[in-house]
Amino acid sequence: MSGHQITAKPQPRVNEVSEPFWTGVNEGRIRLQRCLNESCGRVIFYPRVCCPFCHGSELEWTDAAGDGKVISHTTIHRAHHDGFNGELPYVFAAVELAEGVIFYGQLRGAPTDGTSLVGSKVRAEFSEHGPDRKIVVFRPA
Ligand SMILES: [Zn+2]
Repeated sequence: MSGHQITAKPQPRVNEVSEPFWTGVNEGRIRLQRCLNESCGRVIFYPRVCCPFCHGSELEWTDAAGDGKVISHTTIHRAHHDGFNGELPYVFAAVELAEGVIFYGQLRGAPTDGTSLVGSKVRAEFSEHGPDRKIVVFRPA
């Protein structure tokens, strides 16, 4: 827990269901699932084996455009993990993508003084997060 060492960030848990999503992020894409049940057709995130709305098991992968708007946000002054200490303070936001799903991630380049950002437009970016691992972050559009 020395403050002089760079601590590795906690890494996402990747399993066979979420692997296509994380491979997409490494390639600079946000891959979402869409339900192929005609009477449902909803977009799904996070990755699952069947649709949480209709329980249909036929899902396809589709790329999100990367545009969204802020639903809520908070400024982080004390990180939950030492791996983020070098980035403090930062804004952590819930973002609704244009496709209708909610993502949580850092909102970079936004004011950290508590100014309301709710409803503001953001764009997804892909940030280095560890060995062979990128994550989705957001920036004001
Ligand atoms: Zn469905």
